[in-house]
Amino acid sequence: MKVPVLIPRIFDYPHTYLSGKFDKLKPGSIVLVPFGRKKEIGVIWDKQEKTNKIFKLKNVLEKKSISLNENLIKFINWFSLYNLVPKGMVLKMCLGDESFFSKNSNFIDDTKIKKKNKFNLNPEQKRCLDDINGFGNKFNVTLLQGVTGSGKTIVYFEKIKQNLVQGKQSLVLLPEIFLTNQFEQRFEDYFGFKPSIWHSKITKKNKKIIWQNIVNNKIKLVVGARSSLFLPFKKLGLIVVDEEHDSSYKQDEGLRYNARDMAISRASIEDIPIILATSIPSLETYNNVKNKKYNSTKLKKRYKNFLLPSAEIVNLNLNKKNKNIWLDIKTLNLARKYLDSKQQVLFFLNRRGYAPFLICKKCGFKLACPNCSVFLTFHKQLNKAMCHHCGHKSSIKQKCQKTDFNCEFQMYGPGVEKIFAELRQIFPDKVIKILSSDFLNKKKETINLLKDIENNKVNILVGTQLISKGFNFPNLNCIVVVDADFSGMGFDLRSTEKNIQLYNQLSGRAGRFSKKSLIIYQTFNPSDKTLSDILENNPEKFLEEESCLRKEKKLPPFSRLIAFIVESNNEKESFLEAQKIKKNLLLLKDIEVMGPVTSPIFKIKNKYRTRLLLRSQSNVLVQKKISRILKNLNISKKIKLTVDVDPLNFS
Ligand SMILES: [Zn+2]
Ligand SMILES: [Zn+2]
Repeated sequence: MKVPVLIPRIFDYPHTYLSGKFDKLKPGSIVLVPFGRKKEIGVIWDKQEKTNKIFKLKNVLEKKSISLNENLIKFINWFSLYNLVPKGMVLKMCLGDESFFSKNSNFIDDTKIKKKNKFNLNPEQKRCLDDINGFGNKFNVTLLQGVTGSGKTIVYFEKIKQNLVQGKQSLVLLPEIFLTNQFEQRFEDYFGFKPSIWHSKITKKNKKIIWQNIVNNKIKLVVGARSSLFLPFKKLGLIVVDEEHDSSYKQDEGLRYNARDMAISRASIEDIPIILATSIPSLETYNNVKNKKYNSTKLKKRYKNFLLPSAEIVNLNLNKKNKNIWLDIKTLNLARKYLDSKQQVLFFLNRRGYAPFLICKKCGFKLACPNCSVFLTFHKQLNKAMCHHCGHKSSIKQKCQKTDFNCEFQMYGPGVEKIFAELRQIFPDKVIKILSSDFLNKKKETINLLKDIENNKVNILVGTQLISKGFNFPNLNCIVVVDADFSGMGFDLRSTEKNIQLYNQLSGRAGRFSKKSLIIYQTFNPSDKTLSDILENNPEKFLEEESCLRKEKKLPPFSRLIAFIVESNNEKESFLEAQKIKKNLLLLKDIEVMGPVTSPIFKIKNKYRTRLLLRSQSNVLVQKKISRILKNLNISKKIKLTVDVDPLNFS
């Protein structure tokens, strides 16, 4: 019997084999097949590839004891079609490591809910849970909205509990792997057992244990980052996407996809409910609720009724000061009051390193990356200038062109390390820590730091965007936004939406257990529109206005965008190839193609980058036709074409 076998490589179609001595091969069976001169793991697929060519077919060599759920195959097919990536590459994400198919690893099934939890739902939370239960256990999407600190987590914990009791598996997606640590503890407090944590940084050994025990339905609860979406659940009953608005759900490298959107697809294929939890929904979700495609339920008050922090603007034009000092005297006086009463203060600045660029005082030389068209950021901790795109590091000892000595670099703009240095001088007796990805490389150190913050052993925190996400710091009652100037940031149609989300999240970190909390915005533009939108703190109004604006400009979610990024070692070639692709795309009806244009960051890792942007109606799945065009396109081997469906990053 002929069987289609998908190999987890760049192929978009299964290869045909003969079943040989194995008569019970079904879609999802994992097999070993001869492939070229080697043997490969493959999966029996649902449809055979039609071909007129005649091959000598080979036999399947071995059938593994593990098999995949047929729904996972449907999901891979859909994922591949929607995101315009080969099926084999999606399968690779699902299969993981070869060692997963060897001898089963032991796993102690201790997912019985042990403690009678001390968490009682308040009436609001109860109402939300009733709403969610009312929407049923078949596929439906529910927006669970509530201000930060309103206790959304407990609502979906209860739903997970119901799911566990029925012997079904649950998946909770988080936007950031650093969050999984704190979450692990919250889960354990609640359920009395540890959930399985899944993300790219866990050990190979752990991955194997988790993967194998998800296939056999022994592991019931997984908390993970984007990649946990590809796990081979046997009996998935519920998906929760926490902080659904977070743009970290979009994977921007390699396989490009939006994990939130794909989680919804997976829930639909599995015919199970999915909960999107957030404080302010993304515009996409907001519109789907408005159009009654999604259900919604809302927590209106903060847990225990603590108010959100009050806001204070510090106008940086008012107090003359040294050009290279970033913290205003008014800001410091306000912060000192909190520090004096042993409350924590957070200084927020979304810029890693010490200074974002360096210019020589003598010759005017600007330190730029040799591989990318960006300036280098000085990192004091490394004592090197670093590229945030390719990781290149340069010494700051450079021979000056005007003098006989090295360049004398002047540092421009602040980074978290600079703010840290300023604070050290002003508050020499306080414990000050930086929370940014550069400082959280080791899991143990991260956990210790988070514990120290929770136990009030840290007085001042300096953090990047990372800190806005879901962390629970009970003693944090004052936040300083060091640089609240929003003009000219990013290359992104969602800038305003992202800023509203970010500062809403950030302010939610303060005052979780206090009546008097404060957020300070330092700015040179106190009348800026984005800032006043943030201060008004009326998400519904903002979402409605933004929605009108996007509709008028035919932007998502009122259209679909697909970006094509052409990269080449040769600038001209990348442009010409993009033109060729555009010509072919224009054969499609009812679409627009903008470009080619050089990317805002036109060189990354020595590749010149040209972009095209295709716009189509949002209710048509144009990908099928694009896929056909791309297959017939004779793309020069010297270029790399990346397709990005629903792009969020336009750099
Ligand atoms: Zn670089
Ligand atoms: Zn110089």
